[in-house]
Amino acid sequence: MSSSLWPNGKRVAVSLSFDDARDSQLDHGVPVLDECGARGTFYVNVDRAAARVAEWQAAARHGHEIGNHSLRHSCSGNFVWHAANVLENYTEEQMEEELVTANERLADLFGTAPRTFAYPCGQTFVGRGRDRRSYVPAVARHFLAGRGFRDEYYNRPEFVDLAKVGGTEMDGVPCDQLIAHIERAAANNQWVVFVGHEVLADEMRRQTVTPETLRRLCAYCLEPSRGVWLDTVGAIAEWVGRLQAGAGR
Ligand SMILES: [Zn+2]
Repeated sequence: MSSSLWPNGKRVAVSLSFDDARDSQLDHGVPVLDECGARGTFYVNVDRAAARVAEWQAAARHGHEIGNHSLRHSCSGNFVWHAANVLENYTEEQMEEELVTANERLADLFGTAPRTFAYPCGQTFVGRGRDRRSYVPAVARHFLAGRGFRDEYYNRPEFVDLAKVGGTEMDGVPCDQLIAHIERAAANNQWVVFVGHEVLADEMRRQTVTPETLRRLCAYCLEPSRGVWLDTVGAIAEWVGRLQAGAGR
């Protein structure tokens, strides 16, 4: 099935995204992507990006996208490792301020502010009970797109809310299963946004994609006969935004 939804008759769009600016992404992930000629999206924590800023700047110059992953990586207080800055204690205003601050700090480091955002822990709320709110609207005000995590769907280009793009976990998933995700999405001309953390040869490690899996996945996507558009979240979101504007939503 070919489609006019994607450029150049592609069947499916795929983005490879990585969270938290972990060292192994610079040490192994970026080199594998560069070697394959693929561009990834890296959702960085401001302080971690600052610690190896020259290398992250080089990655950005090679075409990789640097995205915003919030100022404090705030998630639910139900994560026991996460005692401070819990989303249940936030207000929308406070979260919006922090998104803006993180963008300003990343703009200082990289020359331009990020265009896309990834929700830490995939969580999109602030507050609790009757005062619980979504912060998706705040993300919509400041970003071209916001990416979720562990979502149960692939994104329909003509329909997806760009402020809450579904993310598909790739940590610990064998390459064949990642390809199966792409093929299922291709059947409906959708967009798969993979989410990974560490890029390490030790596949027993938590939250890890191996360099070999990444290499095979890129080779699959870049084989022209597969009809895959492999690009950054920002590049594909831009296309989707134009598609939706043209369709009049
Ligand atoms: Zn994260």
